[in-house]
Amino acid sequence: MGNAPRAAVFDSLAATEQQLRARLELANRLGALAADARDLAELFRVLYDETARVMDATVFLFALYDEASATVQVVRQMDRGVEHSGGTFPLGKGFTSEVIRTGAPRLVRRWSAEGPPVRLLYGTEAGELVAPQSGVVVPILSGDRVLGVLSAQSYRPEAYEDADVLSLGAIAVQAGITVKRLHHERRALQLEAVLATMNDALLIVDARGAIVQMNRAARELLCLDSASLVFGQPLEQQRLEQWPATAREIAQALVPVIDALRSGTGVVDVEIELRSGQLRVLSLSASVLRSPGGALQGGVVVFRDVTGQRDLERLREDIFAMAWHDMKTPITVIRGHAELLLRRLSCGERDPKVLETDAASIVTHTDHLSELLTTLFDVSCLEAGLLSISRGPTDLGALVRDVTEGMQSTARHHIKVLADQSVAGEWDKRRIRQVLMNLLSNALKYSPEGSTVTVSVAADERGATVRVRDEGIGLDGPELAQLFRRGYRAEGARNETGGGLGLYFSNGIIAAHGGRMWAESLGHGQGSTFCFTLALREEHSAGRPVEDRA
Ligand code: ADP
Repeated sequence: MGNAPRAAVFDSLAATEQQLRARLELANRLGALAADARDLAELFRVLYDETARVMDATVFLFALYDEASATVQVVRQMDRGVEHSGGTFPLGKGFTSEVIRTGAPRLVRRWSAEGPPVRLLYGTEAGELVAPQSGVVVPILSGDRVLGVLSAQSYRPEAYEDADVLSLGAIAVQAGITVKRLHHERRALQLEAVLATMNDALLIVDARGAIVQMNRAARELLCLDSASLVFGQPLEQQRLEQWPATAREIAQALVPVIDALRSGTGVVDVEIELRSGQLRVLSLSASVLRSPGGALQGGVVVFRDVTGQRDLERLREDIFAMAWHDMKTPITVIRGHAELLLRRLSCGERDPKVLETDAASIVTHTDHLSELLTTLFDVSCLEAGLLSISRGPTDLGALVRDVTEGMQSTARHHIKVLADQSVAGEWDKRRIRQVLMNLLSNALKYSPEGSTVTVSVAADERGATVRVRDEGIGLDGPELAQLFRRGYRAEGARNETGGGLGLYFSNGIIAAHGGRMWAESLGHGQGSTFCFTLALREEHSAGRPVEDRA
């Protein structure tokens, strides 16, 4: 071998080494820069700058591939030093799509000879169509998966050679690392947002059964501060004696669930009743978390407060029992009278007075029955938020007088009405009559015979107020606070029949009018006053039926 060829070999070795070093430096520098990128647009700029340093990047494109929709999402693109926003296109026949499909880089020396003619519209203001003449497209990979592509293009033919494929490939490796990190961060943020806004309490436990994360709802449910719960420590090693009573009850219920998770089994809808403080029913479900390889990693436990649901179920049972009980009597009576009537008619009874009495009894009890059915129907409408209000001109004073006169005939009380002036507004007369009947019948039911019930109607610029005052059993503070709850009955009311639905329904009617209902009493034995206000004009009254627990 002569001197000249040896020198040429050394020269070419030196050149290769230089190229390698340059590529290594590039990768290092890029690695550092890309690691700082806070979003995809920032990453695009870093990638473009680095690409432009080492090759012709007259046109530069950074795109991600969305497998689910089989679309290419161009993050940003550069044309002759001007940055353009990206866009989305379905996987097609071009070089970009080819690289995404195959996962292999592509060098296009002469576009016009090698590929379909392309004319790109880079969103330039003039809407100019441009046609690159050569290009290099490399995949951004994560294992075998193609996350996206980088593409450098030139308006010159033959602007690239194999070394550029390697250089752009090195840049794509760094791009892949950052894309994965950004994806990861976005997913973590999304997960955090979902956890934070979830109403259900959620705990994440690791494979040893130690709580490693919990959301806001779980923190509130357990009432734990960071001092009492040590993250990463198994439940049995926590200082449970320092936990609040509710948290201790929950921890107790959690023990078998966490044991199940440790052995790789989930649980579905296990109910626990919390008895410390107010009775609450929680439904608990847990599912096992595994790594993609199948190794046990822990689990997720979700608690849902189903107290309301259980209350509702209990209420339905109560209503059913009440309906059954209350309907049985009138039906028996109706049947009895109908039978009697039939017997009398078949025996030739002709005395109209006797026949009339039987028929009247049937009518009265049928009315009771239909009243009961209406109440049940109304309450279920209110529950479903379907309570309809049809407004029309209504005089409250006249309505109160009408209702009280009707009741006075059978009452063993004195009913006094203080409603001199006419108080007119646009209200649902039938519904307000139901409210008045309910308040009055309660006043009569819960006060001694011979006592006085006073109904007053007053109005000022804010609205009309109706008060129904009695001299009866009265109510204490805690009772006053719960009166309008569905199904509530105070201790002193147990001797009287009733289902605790009247006030709930009346309050719903007043709320649907945009008004307010409340009760006043100085205590047991001191009588009570039930009041409601209604706005005189409709614009003040855009309310929905709501359950007032105040
Ligand atoms: P019901 O009377 O059918 O039980 P309501 O919803 O009309 O149902 O009333 C709920 C509860 O409120 C009653 O059970 C009773 O404890 C209490 N209450 C209602 N009105 C009065 C009143 N005028 N005086 C004392 N307690 C009352």
